[in-house]
Amino acid sequence: MSQANQQTAYDDNNIFAKMLNGDIPCHKVYEDDKTLAFMDIMPQAEGHVLVIPKQKAVDLSDLEPEYAAAILMTSKKIMQAQRQVFERDGIVQMQLNGAQAGQTVFHYHVHLIPSSIHELGRHAAIEVDHEKLAETAKQLAAVIEA
Ligand code: 5GP
Repeated sequence: MSQANQQTAYDDNNIFAKMLNGDIPCHKVYEDDKTLAFMDIMPQAEGHVLVIPKQKAVDLSDLEPEYAAAILMTSKKIMQAQRQVFERDGIVQMQLNGAQAGQTVFHYHVHLIPSSIHELGRHAAIEVDHEKLAETAKQLAAVIEA
């Protein structure tokens, strides 16, 4: 049977769109003209960061090349900061395309998780203390700015 495009249409009210509009807060780590990086509130390990494009993209199929490049450059900055702050080399880069893959927020995003594929916590399951998230965001941001 055909698996023809069952992709969700972009919803302007998705939670990450609201962050980009400034309608809801996030623990920001880094921002430039094409990307925003912030702490995941239900992390799969301490220091779990999400990187999103300032483009209306549901998943990888929608991502324009200039935003794809910007996402990678920002991801590299975040990963370098995570390596320094968490004193570990291993950073999982993950990205889910479509509900069938487990995607839950339909604005393209890259997960950067200081962990191992063998040790990842449950996906989008347990909300953690926001004071701690704010502190980690500050630490990562300081390393990036340095
Ligand atoms: P996905 O399942 O789409 O790949 O990942 C969505 C991610 O967004 C999950 O890791 C989940 O924990 C995170 N998330 C869901 N709601 C919020 C929120 O309101 N704020 C933040 N910062 N992250 C969220």
